[in-house]
Amino acid sequence: MHSNTSDVLIAGAGPAGLASAIAAARLGLRVEVLDAARPPIDKACGEGLMPDSLQSLAALGINIRHHQTAPFHGIRFLNERPTATAQAIFPTEPGRGIRRTVLHQLLLDHALSLGVRFHWENPLREITPTATGSVVRTTRQTLRARYLIGADGPRSRVAAAANLTAATVRSQRIGLRQHYSISPWSNLVEVYWSDYGQAYVTPTSTNEVCVAFIARQKIPSPTHALQHFPTLSRHLASALPSDAPRGSITLDRTLRRVATSNIALTGDASGSVDAVTGSGLALCFRQAAALASALQAEDLSLYQQAHSSIRLGPQLISRSLLLLDQSPRLRARTLQTFERLPFLFQRLLEVHIGHRACIFPGVDDLLASGLHLMTN
Ligand SMILES: Cc1cc2nc3c(=O)[nH]c(=O)nc-3n(C[C@H](O)[C@H](O)[C@H](O)COP(=O)(O)OP(=O)(O)OC[C@H]3O[C@@H](n4cnc5c(N)ncnc54)[C@H](O)[C@@H]3O)c2cc1C
Repeated sequence: MHSNTSDVLIAGAGPAGLASAIAAARLGLRVEVLDAARPPIDKACGEGLMPDSLQSLAALGINIRHHQTAPFHGIRFLNERPTATAQAIFPTEPGRGIRRTVLHQLLLDHALSLGVRFHWENPLREITPTATGSVVRTTRQTLRARYLIGADGPRSRVAAAANLTAATVRSQRIGLRQHYSISPWSNLVEVYWSDYGQAYVTPTSTNEVCVAFIARQKIPSPTHALQHFPTLSRHLASALPSDAPRGSITLDRTLRRVATSNIALTGDASGSVDAVTGSGLALCFRQAAALASALQAEDLSLYQQAHSSIRLGPQLISRSLLLLDQSPRLRARTLQTFERLPFLFQRLLEVHIGHRACIFPGVDDLLASGLHLMTN
């Protein structure tokens, strides 16, 4: 084998690529990562890490509690019209809001401390399979690896080269993120619902909140979007934007396969759930651990199986929330029911963060098959 061949080469240094690099390096594998950009890498994101995401991060050796973050203790849903409010509190430790660039730096520092090598401003151009792995050409150099990991986002070149693009796309929406300088008025993540879409608010420090708007149509500006969320608009009346808005698409997309014998996909390159679930980062961290175990066992079919089961819960939540987005009537009824029966919303949240296995024993399978019928 070529002397410069690494065990694992990861294309993409977003959260998925960095988490995968950390998980693999912790198991003693020689890891290299390339990215078209250079740090700090920012991206439109709601910037909320639910308690289960924090546990998955801790399993990778990262504790963000002592860094620039803000705790949140649960989730509140607010329907703008007809008004209805439901909230639930985490029965565990709080979640944390963290600026995307702060999270990126933490992951990067940890990866560097484990000996991971980085190649910045190196867009991947070409992949050639060999008997012992892959040869990867970037605009600047040629790299060789036994295993190639595509963590290069939804338009993954690795997926295209490995013929792994066959997918079902159930939803495509637009996201726009804006930070505002203001003391958070709530210690919950608030999700505002209207016919336009959702706006969710995550505290990211003692004097800043992150607002992510998600809609089916192009969002011209945060000011435009706020017109559709009068309650949120009132909260933000005196707040100033603290940076430029940043947009991105969000997909509910399931890939048929995420691995060959020596190439695997992770993060958004391997499919995604709608952003409103707040599960994208948790998926990245859980997939990273599963991928590293499969790499160590030299059997990527193990990752294929693990990937499917990791996706199941967030996928169900994603489809349920998209149904509420599409049907104002169903949304109003559901949120009014949660308002009247708060324990229902509490149980749903507990299932969502993996604290509880099911909403009601025996009833969940019925709900899941009903939802399957409605969304297929
Ligand atoms: C509006 C919005 C709000 C969201 N809110 C939340 C939230 O609150 N909580 C949550 O958990 N998730 C949230 N998500 C989802 C989350 O942001 C994504 O799931 C996550 O960013 C996926 O990370 P990734 O590393 O797979 O992809 P990315 O972050 O897209 O990283 C891909 C990397 O690959 C690099 N790359 C691409 N092509 C190439 C190439 N050819 N060569 C080299 N490098 C390349 C890019 O430069 C980039 O650094 C949100 C998403 C959106 C759009």
